[in-house]
Amino acid sequence: MLPVIALVGRPNVGKSTLFNRLTRTRDALVADFPGLTRDRKYGQANYDGYEFIVVDTGGIDGTEEGIEIEMADQSLLAIEEADIVLFLVDARVGMTVADQAIANHLRKQDKKCFVVANKTDGIDADSNCAEFYQLSLGEIHHIAAAHGRGITLLLEHTLQPV
Ligand code: GDP
Ligand code: MG
Repeated sequence: MLPVIALVGRPNVGKSTLFNRLTRTRDALVADFPGLTRDRKYGQANYDGYEFIVVDTGGIDGTEEGIEIEMADQSLLAIEEADIVLFLVDARVGMTVADQAIANHLRKQDKKCFVVANKTDGIDADSNCAEFYQLSLGEIHHIAAAHGRGITLLLEHTLQPV
C-alpha cells in the first residue's frame, strides 16, 4: 500500500500546481483509487524515487459558505484518509486568519503534518516564512511548486525512499 499524501490549504496557495508537478510522469493515472472516497483528485506519483498517492483538494479557508462548505468538507475527508498532510501556505501573502483556522484543525488531528511555504521563488524565503512558525506545527518547508524547487528535499523529510 503506497502512502497517501493530502495537499490542503486555502485556495490559491498552489496545491494543484504541486499536485501536477508531483504526478507529472504518471498523469494518466490520475483517477479514483479503490478504498478512497471519490470527488477529490487522486494521482499516483513517482518523484525522484519516492512513490506515493497524492490527493489534491479544492481548498479550505475556515469561513466557508454555500458551495465552499462542500469543498472544505472534501479537505477534511482528505485529511482523514491521508497518512501524511502537506499544509500549504503562501510565502508571498504571509500568514492569514484562514491559515490559522486550518492549523487549529490540524493540531487536533493525530496525523503527520508538515507546513509547506510555497511561492518562495524570487523572495527572501527565510524572512518571509518566519511568521509561519506561529502556526505551531513545527518546521517550515520552503518550496516553489511552479519551478520544482524544494520538492525533493520536502519528500526526503516526509517520506522514506521506496
Ligand atoms: P490552489 O488553489 O491551491 O490549487 O493553487 P493553484 O495551484 O491553482 O495556484 C494558484 C496560483 O499560484 C497560480 O496562479 C499559480 O501559477 C501560482 N503559483 C503556484 N505555485 C507557485 C510558485 O511556486 N511560485 C509562484 N510565484 N506562483 C505559484
Ligand atoms: Mg487547486
